[in-house]
Amino acid sequence: MTTRSQRDKEKKQQEEFQSILRRLLLEEDNKYCADCDAKGPRWASWNIGVFLCIRCAGIHRNLGVHISKVKSVNLDTWTEKQITSIEGLGNRTCRKVYEASLPASFRRPQTDSALEHFIRAKYEQKKYTDKELEKQLQAVSCVCSFICLGFMPVFSTQCTFIKIKKRNFLSSPKFSPVF
Ligand SMILES: [Zn+2]
Repeated sequence: MTTRSQRDKEKKQQEEFQSILRRLLLEEDNKYCADCDAKGPRWASWNIGVFLCIRCAGIHRNLGVHISKVKSVNLDTWTEKQITSIEGLGNRTCRKVYEASLPASFRRPQTDSALEHFIRAKYEQKKYTDKELEKQLQAVSCVCSFICLGFMPVFSTQCTFIKIKKRNFLSSPKFSPVF
């Protein structure tokens, strides 16, 4: 049984998470679906770290949770782990990794079946992924989870470390994490 103070605490935390998500959605690259470019995504794959439109979120669900874990930005309850993950990633970082070799002239598919084909190629077959960047990103995410959620909870969801790493990651073509 939960007490009233526990419920209040949980409510306050969810409000804090919602404000983080709202702030993330204001970032330029997060204003459009990571896969089809539709405006105003309201869904997310928190483990991949992208914001999605409802149509692409449905396709992500079909990939299975071993590939993509989908949530509604404002209808679902979020955990600290999920917030930390998406806060450290986002559409810009993920495009850099998962669309590394996508030709500049590539036009995003619009029909449901072509879109599913593209999304499967992108995340299931990892056809356009820069494998080296992906490995580095996983290392960063792993260390951040370790720091944010385990041993130094003082950083909480405002982990400075993750932001610095993210900035370095985005600004250098071959980012080398130093731990
Ligand atoms: Zn979409």
